[in-house]
Amino acid sequence: MNSTPSLWQQELNQAFTGSTELLNYLKLSPDLSVTEAENSFSLRVPLAYAKNMEKANRYDPLLLQVLPIADELNSPKNYLDDPVGDLPALKNGCLIHKYHDRVLFITTGGCAINCRFCFRRNFSYSDAQLTSKNEIRALQYLRNNPSINEVIFSGGDPLLLSDQRIEHLIQELAKISHIKRLRFHTRLPIVLPSRMTEALIDLFQNAPLPIIIVTHCNHANELSEQVKQACLRLKQTNITLLNQTVLLKNINDHPVALKELSEQLFACGILPYYLHILDKAKGTAHFDITEAKAIQLHQSLQKQLSGYLVPKLVKEEAGKANKTLITY
Ligand code: SF4
Repeated sequence: MNSTPSLWQQELNQAFTGSTELLNYLKLSPDLSVTEAENSFSLRVPLAYAKNMEKANRYDPLLLQVLPIADELNSPKNYLDDPVGDLPALKNGCLIHKYHDRVLFITTGGCAINCRFCFRRNFSYSDAQLTSKNEIRALQYLRNNPSINEVIFSGGDPLLLSDQRIEHLIQELAKISHIKRLRFHTRLPIVLPSRMTEALIDLFQNAPLPIIIVTHCNHANELSEQVKQACLRLKQTNITLLNQTVLLKNINDHPVALKELSEQLFACGILPYYLHILDKAKGTAHFDITEAKAIQLHQSLQKQLSGYLVPKLVKEEAGKANKTLITY
């Protein structure tokens, strides 16, 4: 028997999946998008996110994150399909074990939004599937590795799983005594806030292990009132809420934009956690900024903000057992 989709599932199904319809909605020319780029990585944008874009502004910082353009087709050689070394660390089909005491659990290849700068835009999710067989093998791997104390649900976006599936995974992991906490890396609170249903919040509130949610927000304009209310509801449950931001050329590579982002995140109950240098994925070079500029931006944040509002400046290097903290 098919159950009626909930509001967030309806919104997900109704997301823009073609650049022409998105650009029409924004009162912009369809010529701004490049078909070859769109064919190589499809467009997907929920209406809730598109509503935060300024109409008739081709340089809108949210639009620039999702619009397929010709620059994606001219990738320098050092921009790779797997820039962070996920594939060599893939275990049992759905775990990525790079770090000593924590492991990434790839739960789905799907996202509510397709970000053009995504480090996994070329990732072969067919090699990493959460089938029942892979789930059994993954749980066995975790049981056999007592050094792992944290599981990080990643993807794709793990909050695209049904509540039942999320609850099942939480309950199974809670049976492993050395797992102390669970982390969800997700962009859904930002791009599809209707996903933060009372049922999901109850599920997290009653989870047998502490839950950490790491959102991915790149610009203060992404933090609509609806997003703020969704995040504040999450916050009331004592979930730890952190955010990571990717530094993106012409989108947030400005001290004013980054300061405003930290201030607005805090107003949503979220602490800025990481400021990432772009992972060099094939097709994303036009978003990259130099490390020297990233340091300048970070120094500027340190001067302008209280310490707890300044995210750590980091980059990921393939083969390393932790993120690299950029110091100066
Ligand atoms: S939501 Fe995250 S995983 Fe999905 S496309 Fe965007 S950056 Fe990539």
